[in-house]
Amino acid sequence: MTQNLPSFDLKRNYQRVREEILEAVHRVLDSQHFILGPEVAAFEEEAARYLEVPHALGCASGTDALLLSLLALRVGPGDEVITTPYTFFASTSCITRLGATPVFVDVEPDSYNLRMDRVLEALTPRTKAVIPVHLFGQMCRLEEIAPTLKERGVALVEDCAQAFGTLRHLDGGILRAGAVGDLSCFSFFPTKNLGAYGDAGMVASRRDDLADRVRNLRVHGAATTYLHDEVGLNSRLDALQAAILRVRLRHVETWNEERRAVADRYRLLFGQKGLLDVVTPPAEQAGTRHIFHQYVVRARRRDELQAFLGERGITTRVYYPLSLHLQPCFRFLGYQEGAFPVSETLSQETLALPMFPELEVAEQERVVEEIGRFYGRG
Ligand SMILES: *Cc1c(COP(=O)(O)O)cnc(C)c1O
Repeated sequence: MTQNLPSFDLKRNYQRVREEILEAVHRVLDSQHFILGPEVAAFEEEAARYLEVPHALGCASGTDALLLSLLALRVGPGDEVITTPYTFFASTSCITRLGATPVFVDVEPDSYNLRMDRVLEALTPRTKAVIPVHLFGQMCRLEEIAPTLKERGVALVEDCAQAFGTLRHLDGGILRAGAVGDLSCFSFFPTKNLGAYGDAGMVASRRDDLADRVRNLRVHGAATTYLHDEVGLNSRLDALQAAILRVRLRHVETWNEERRAVADRYRLLFGQKGLLDVVTPPAEQAGTRHIFHQYVVRARRRDELQAFLGERGITTRVYYPLSLHLQPCFRFLGYQEGAFPVSETLSQETLALPMFPELEVAEQERVVEEIGRFYGRG
């Protein structure tokens, strides 16, 4: 009986940082300061420095980071927000939650990210914001839309939930995910490439005015205790999670590099096995540093392949099986099947293979071996 191979293995990762984590947790317990406070402020400062943004504000989750950002921009009924149908639910639910209208545009078949030309075509006088998602850890080419959005007074809200540390090299400079938009939203859900040990999130911003608004909105809209300028949320970062994140932030660069090495090896193995006609590895676009939060291939007969691997103890996942414009809760928007063909095709063809920094060469060889066997190339 061979060992089961999970799609990610948090326990292996924990073993590498266990001592540092326990020390951080004890420090917070000894302080008995659990909500916001110095530990959160220290994490915010360290995260802001890493991302090269002036402001980083912890909150309760990535979903709340998106909601806080749209609240800060005063997005509401009558407003349109352009985003992708091929992503996690929260990138869109924050829009409808506020009574605004999501406007979907299709994605690119190789990067799975929003088509920037289509974003520009979809702008109307009612467009209040655009939410590009740096999906699976690859940064969108924001430089293609940022100047136009700025000129037209449309806010750019980056969904960086899967993208801590991705960037683009541009004309000798660097464009970091999270440092381009007016507001940027991070999730530290445990399985994200920078994960906490519970729910956690963050909003980053270049703008003082918007950062001030988020700072108030996360504590019930009260700049001064018990004086409420507006109705906000209770969405704060726990000191325990902040202390854990401070430890993990020190290692995220190494882990991202390890993810990249795992991705390189998959591609090499697919080539060696002669599988590139049936399995398309994720494309890394010119100038982009993909951090492979997920390693998502396109595969022929995807569902059968997934079942075959599952029977052999290899866990894979489908991100995302149903395009958001076809979700029952968004039916009222009136989109039909066929509206976004690339997104719909991807939802039938993509498969996320095991991907985590500690994944071993022998394990990757086993994955590719079994895929080869499925396609009769064993
Ligand atoms: C995980 C995720 C979110 C939501 O983050 P939570 O912390 O789980 O609320 C939002 N957008 C994308 C693209 C995500 O992957």
